[in-house]
Amino acid sequence: MTLFFPERGKYALLNPVCSVIIKTRKLCPELLHVPDMRESLEEFKMKMLIKNGKVVDPVNGTLSLMDLLVENGKIALLEPGIESEADEIIDAKGLVVSPGLVDMHVHLRDPGLTYKEDIHTGALAAARGGVTSMACMANTSPVLDTPEQMIYVKEKAAQGCGVNVYPIGAVSKGLRGKELTDFEELKNAGAIALSDDGNNIDDANLMRDALIRARRQGMTILAHCEDSNMVGNRAVNEGRVSRQLWLEGRPAIAEELVIMRDAMLAEETKAAVHVCHISTARSVEIIRRMKKKGIAITCETCPQYFTLTEDEILTQGTLARVNPPLRTEKDVKGIITGLKDGTIDVIATDHAPHSVDEKRRELTKAPSGMVGLETSLAITLTQLYHTGRMELPEIIRRMTSNPAAILKLNKGRLMVGSDADITIFDPDEEWTIDPDQFASKGRNTPFAGMTVKGKVKYTIVNGKVIYQDK
Ligand SMILES: [Zn+2]
Repeated sequence: MTLFFPERGKYALLNPVCSVIIKTRKLCPELLHVPDMRESLEEFKMKMLIKNGKVVDPVNGTLSLMDLLVENGKIALLEPGIESEADEIIDAKGLVVSPGLVDMHVHLRDPGLTYKEDIHTGALAAARGGVTSMACMANTSPVLDTPEQMIYVKEKAAQGCGVNVYPIGAVSKGLRGKELTDFEELKNAGAIALSDDGNNIDDANLMRDALIRARRQGMTILAHCEDSNMVGNRAVNEGRVSRQLWLEGRPAIAEELVIMRDAMLAEETKAAVHVCHISTARSVEIIRRMKKKGIAITCETCPQYFTLTEDEILTQGTLARVNPPLRTEKDVKGIITGLKDGTIDVIATDHAPHSVDEKRRELTKAPSGMVGLETSLAITLTQLYHTGRMELPEIIRRMTSNPAAILKLNKGRLMVGSDADITIFDPDEEWTIDPDQFASKGRNTPFAGMTVKGKVKYTIVNGKVIYQDK
């Protein structure tokens, strides 16, 4: 059966299940008013064949030439030389076919701070960066600390470009670090994890209670580790650059102490702690040691921490201001070692958009953070793959199956029957980072003008192309 779909401007072959739905609709026109039926009709019609690509299996650590047939939004076949009719055929010769990237640390600024970003623009930025699933942090205005806020994020995301958005609930009400939120209620409303990210949880007793309750709900706490009293609102790492600028700095030990504390609390409570954006060589050492003891601790880092040092502040000013701060050459090396030996489980972005005006303020008054969704894969490939430091499946594992496992999401792997969330990229294509091309409202990146190697060509969610590089 062939039908014309005006929004796609082409004819599509329909499988028998789909024509049954259409026949039923003719008989019962009221079915047309059921919105989810419409949605399933949309999904049923597409059959997509991705040919000749190098398919990554991040769990088995392999890269093999295979074809991939997508039907009804799921992967129907995965083997070499598939011959099948399809509505859409993508020739992926010379390209890498990866599970869609999973970014577990994103600030979408919605509700309340939508001049910086909103869920829609954030999702468009994700699609351009090859990210098909992302978890968004709770430090919005109001804070994501009630079931209503979870539902708001999910509903707004559902109207977007198709990227899966998972809200993270706050650990403490209003992120004030005083009183815990209702974890069970947040979980039931769709919170995928818990975090006060942006703020450290200074009160060890509150953190301990939070871990006990989170464990009961089977939820993971994502911890922003930096002792508040030791870092205040300071702008840069404590060290050579802070002394050169006559500024008080944020010492490495402020991060390392809290990681140590949280690891010990995780050991005692048997709860799962995930440390956000680690930035120092000693943080890597601590976590390596704690993992060896069998403690349920995982961690992430971000491209800026294995690419840039505190020196960036001297040339880029506020664009290089981020929490935790960019550190030293020795720390960059330590982070890379941690990525290579598996101590660091995840590469996330900590995508943190701010307005141009905010970043124009002087260094001590500008907000911290940088955007990352549209540059993360390219910087990572440039820094870790093209330098020969890591193999491709190892890198992809830290951007797909590992974060999916920590969030208990059934994503991050391409297998028959799994959701057809796929990122296709050219690992060798060179391009120059130009913030004016970003879909994000944020332009705040210290990577502007950098030539990188690795470009997203297609982003596919549920078997639908949501971004194509032209
Ligand atoms: Zn943070």
